[in-house]
Amino acid sequence: MSDWKLPWTGACLCGQVKVRVTEAPVVAAACHCRACQKLTGGAYSLSLMLPASGLSVEGETEIGGLHNPVPEHHFCPSCKNWLFTRGIAGGAFVNVRPSLLDDGGWVVPYADTWTAQSLPGVQSGARVHYPEFPPVEDYAGLMEGYARDGVRPG
Ligand SMILES: [Zn+2]
Ligand SMILES: [Zn+2]
Repeated sequence: MSDWKLPWTGACLCGQVKVRVTEAPVVAAACHCRACQKLTGGAYSLSLMLPASGLSVEGETEIGGLHNPVPEHHFCPSCKNWLFTRGIAGGAFVNVRPSLLDDGGWVVPYADTWTAQSLPGVQSGARVHYPEFPPVEDYAGLMEGYARDGVRPG
């Protein structure tokens, strides 16, 4: 779809790890769970979920977070930015932090997850809200909604 204006390039804070996105995201989400609060040091994490084949990475990453095999939380070994998470939906998808993108200022999350743990007063701009992770049967509808109504690069 041409209105996604792919590819996108990006990098961690220090520039040691570079990323390139070549496939459109299937959904953008803000996760308000306690783990994402700790991982980001902020109120929630932002994710662009895209096909795993749509992300290429230049430079070594290291695994952080809880070091669980699934999902794999990849960080920059130098500046310790949280970069992306692999192993989503059996490895078919990767969650990329849009803060890496050189031009990510257009990103608006479509769905909030784990609002049951969100901090008081925090709003992400998402239009649909889940108290925990969405049930699997909602995924297709979420992706349809995002393809139809998701905010595109300006
Ligand atoms: Zn870095
Ligand atoms: Zn989370």
